[in-house]
This record gives sequence, structure tokens and C-alpha cells, in this order.
Amino acid sequence: MSEVRHNWTKEEILEIYNKPLMELLYDAATIHRKQHDPNVVQVSTLLSIKTGGCSEDCGYCPQAARYHTNVEGNDLMTVNQVKAQALRAKESGSSRVCMGAAWRNVKDGPEFDQVLEMVRSINKLEMEVCCTLGMVTENQAQRLAEAGLYAYNHNLDSSEEYYKEVISTRGYQDRLDTIDNVRKTNVTVCSGGIIGMGESAEDRAGMLVALSTLNPQPESTPINALVAVEGTPLEDEKPVEIWDMIRMVATTRIVLPETQVRLSAGRTQMSREGQAMCFFAGANSIFAGDKLLTTPNPDVNEDMKMFELLGLNPQKPFTKKVQPQTVEAKDSQLEALGEKPKWTRPDYKIERNEAAKQKGKAVKI
Ligand code: SF4
Repeated sequence: MSEVRHNWTKEEILEIYNKPLMELLYDAATIHRKQHDPNVVQVSTLLSIKTGGCSEDCGYCPQAARYHTNVEGNDLMTVNQVKAQALRAKESGSSRVCMGAAWRNVKDGPEFDQVLEMVRSINKLEMEVCCTLGMVTENQAQRLAEAGLYAYNHNLDSSEEYYKEVISTRGYQDRLDTIDNVRKTNVTVCSGGIIGMGESAEDRAGMLVALSTLNPQPESTPINALVAVEGTPLEDEKPVEIWDMIRMVATTRIVLPETQVRLSAGRTQMSREGQAMCFFAGANSIFAGDKLLTTPNPDVNEDMKMFELLGLNPQKPFTKKVQPQTVEAKDSQLEALGEKPKWTRPDYKIERNEAAKQKGKAVKI
């Protein structure tokens, strides 16, 4: 087993990231083989259960209400709709369903109760259930755990320094606090970030410092390549080079040896050969389905053909941790506290976010 270190420095991580590629790949693949079966890849399906209309200003996100994008918002899906989609995902080889809602934070009330019911119904299908619903309090995280949630996703996105160039409506510490709230339950943590937002290699290393310092480290780490969507502040960013993606995956594997490293957004821009190198470098999870919330993703049949070609097998559910038990709503001992936590609204503005907002207004008129 590889040693899990929580004291990585930015310099050490940068040195790994910048190694000659063949050495980097060898080191990452060696650690990967010690910790994981290299021929097994987890397949997750991401469902957007509530799309668009978000109050935040994340510069990469087409779901932010303030930007002029082609995303059509919709209300929270029903439990039956979600269950039907989860069943379809299971039939096509997914072991995990991740439900995403475009919310700043979870609010106690009927919509959250509906999400809890979704969690219960998917857990009963014997699939791992993950949610990404924005910031959560400890009580809300506990209620999700009680419903049978397996994982909660809350990405750090980038280094603390570069985060301030991308999002002005909530702080880095808020993100860490949410992760901390999830950690107080038996729900596993999924947290990673995005490359290709204009950040430097130092920022990429900085994000890995933040993730590796978490103790325990996240059980799952998505590495997204920015999909630059027209109308968002980051619309002009150039596509991420495959070599950057491979380096980032390999470095993540070395620094977070036990985590499932997930290839997430941006896979449509990657060739099969590029993805194969990412798997060799230690990626062992993908998102399946033709959409990732609102951006395109490879067709699931294409993914299965790729698996066959590479001799990969989808991971069975609950391989890493036993299935959580579901407590029915009527049997719950937990109460909604109706808290109104003071998540911060940092006191700074990001010029390109403001410009994208103004441009959106101008086009809408
Ligand atoms: S990333 Fe999430 S919080 Fe940020 S704007 Fe998009 S939906 Fe809202």
C-alpha cells in the first residue's frame, strides 16, 4: 500500500507535475497498481435534477442565471423521473448516480425532502448515490446520510488563490466547511476541480495541496477539463491540452493514492488514446451519459466499446465501502433545523464575471 501523506508542499507537487512524462506515468501507474485494480473503472451517471437559474457567479458555469447562455432552466425533477433514469443508468453499466442541483446551498423544506426521497429510492436500487447540491450544514449532511447517501460532491475547483479569479459569490472556506460538515457523517467525500480556466501549473499544484491536506483525503476526485461555454466569463479559454490532463491525472494519483480519480467534463474533446493514457496514469472513474449536467459527454455505448477495446471492466457498486442503510422519512429521528447559516459573500468583484453579466443583460433586452 502507498503511504497517504497530508503534508505535501506545492513545490513537491510541482516537481512531480513537471517530471519527464514517461517517469511521471511510470510512478503514477506503479502507485495505481498497488492501490487499485488497473482494469476496473467506476462508471457514474450524472443527472441534473434541477437545472439553471443559479444565483452564483462561477465563471465556468452556464447554469448561473446572470450569464447569457443557452441553458434552459427546469424545476426539480420528480422522484419517479429520477428513479426511471437511475434504472436506465444501471442497465447500461453505471454503479453510481450523482444528482446535481443548481443551488447555492441546500435549504430545508419540501424540495430538500424530495431530494432525500430520491436518495432513498436510488439506494434501494442497490446503486451508490451521490449528490451535489451546493453548500450543506452538518444537520443537512446527516439527513442525507440517514437517507442512504453514499457520497457528497463539493469541488474546490482550483487553488485558493486562483479561486478568487473565478468565483466572487462564496469563499474557499465555505467550500472547506461544507466538506467538513459531510465528513462528520458516514457519507464519503467527492472533491476535485477544473483545469483550463487560465490557471497556472502552480494553481493546479495548489489545489492538490488543499485536497491532500484534508484528513481523510476525498474518496473521489473529479478532474474536469473546462468546457468553455459561450456567454460565460470563460468562453474564450482554449481547450485543455491532453498532455496537461494526463499530467494532472498522474499527479493526482500520486498525491491522493487511495482516491478514485474521475475523468469528468471535457471527455468529448479527448481521443480514445488520450483517455487510455489517463487510465494508465491512474484515472479509474468516468461519468457516463450523453450530457454532464448541461455540457456534452460521450455516448454510453461509445464508452462501453472503449472499455471492451481496452479490456476494462465497470466497477461493481459498494466495492470500496458497504452500502449505507436507508432510514424511511417516517422513522427518522432527525429534524430539519431550518438553519440560515451565514455562508459568506466575499467582498470582491471579478471583472470578467461582471462583463459577462452585462453582456448577458444587453443581449436579453
Ligand atoms: S457551479 Fe453550481 S453554484 Fe456555481 S453557478 Fe453553477 S450551479 Fe451555481
